[in-house]
Amino acid sequence: MIGVAVLGSTGSIGVSTLDVIARHADRYRVVALTANGNHQRLLEQLRQFRPAYAVMADENAASRLDAAVRAEGLDTEVLAGADALERVAELDEVDQVMAAIVGAAGLGSALAAARAGKRVLLANKESLVVAGHLFMEAVAAGGAELLPIDSEHNAIFQCMPTGFRDGLAASGVTRILLTASGGPFRAWPIEKLARVTPAQACAHPNWDMGRKISVDSATMMNKGLELIEACWLFGTDPEHIQVVIHPQSVVHSMVEYADGSVLAQLGNPDMRTPIAHAMAWPERMDSGVGSLNLFDIARLDFEAPDLARFPCLRLAGEAMRAGGTAPAILNAANEIAVQAFLDERLPFVAIAATIEKTLSALPVEPVETLGQLMETDRRARAIAEQFITARV
Ligand code: NDP
Repeated sequence: MIGVAVLGSTGSIGVSTLDVIARHADRYRVVALTANGNHQRLLEQLRQFRPAYAVMADENAASRLDAAVRAEGLDTEVLAGADALERVAELDEVDQVMAAIVGAAGLGSALAAARAGKRVLLANKESLVVAGHLFMEAVAAGGAELLPIDSEHNAIFQCMPTGFRDGLAASGVTRILLTASGGPFRAWPIEKLARVTPAQACAHPNWDMGRKISVDSATMMNKGLELIEACWLFGTDPEHIQVVIHPQSVVHSMVEYADGSVLAQLGNPDMRTPIAHAMAWPERMDSGVGSLNLFDIARLDFEAPDLARFPCLRLAGEAMRAGGTAPAILNAANEIAVQAFLDERLPFVAIAATIEKTLSALPVEPVETLGQLMETDRRARAIAEQFITARV
């Protein structure tokens, strides 16, 4: 039995992961489940999957969960706090760690899994955005297997030659074509974007996702974060990655080779496909996703991204080129601005402006330690918050 810890099990990716695991109960055993504050949903998952450990980052929620677990006589040990997330990621009985906590909050536990040499199923793209260099070092030092869950990166991984880690050029790869749905406002004129509401931003046309990534998708910051993520995962730079708008979300990304071949991975837009792929790799297993009906889809469209209407994509490319602490600043400012938008304290179009101002306000330094990145993250959040407050 393969032991799995699902970090962020109550979220969109976490629930899809448990759906895949439930289909293969003879092969996977859930060792730990974690959440932030949603103790009711976590309790339901504990009843179904009976893991040895449950972690809640929020201490009050952990106390409530613990009381419910005792009252029901469940055999799960309830732990609290961010340190406990790291502890369950390192457990000997855990072979695979699904890193599906949202935001920079997922970094510590994803790093712990990498250092402990686990198979890291990486959904938390923010880990690579904030600390790409340190994260990849931890993967190498720990002997971990890093498998991308983001559908685009999983598609790229599937289209890559086996020796791609020795260098893309050496293995005949010339370009990565990173597809993007364009989000719910792909065709909206710039004037209309000023009046976007959180409900509109969270209603993605193709994917059912958590609220933060849904807003990131609407601003196209999601594609910007993915650009940075792809640079680290595949050892390349923004110049070798072309973002391609593909509204149907059927082609999940492509890899171009020196001989002119372009390999693509296609499938229905359902995260259970990359999750099952990464868990079973190098084998294949059923994910519960239906087969792709190309006759229903009928056509596939591709267009260039519009950086004027979606400046977040430009900002992410610039941050990656600047290097050092710039992507961590970008990520922190984005998390604060997205939350302010969801709380109706910031207009949609001001998300990019907040990030750009925060990037200009802080010096970019070479990355040396995790502590330095955490301090950068803290300062960037404080500055972004000041800009948002000053607008009111
Ligand atoms: P959700 O918002 O649906 O779920 C987030 C999960 O993280 C929940 O379990 C939540 O717990 C937990 N969490 C939130 N904050 C903290 C914290 N401070 N400490 C510990 N746990 C926390 O997010 P998604 O599932 O949509 O996304 C998860 C990650 O996967 C993100 O990095 C996203 O970019 C990435 N991703 C998501 C895709 C998708 O289709 N959803 C596709 C590709 C990548 P609680 O429920 O208690 O709040």
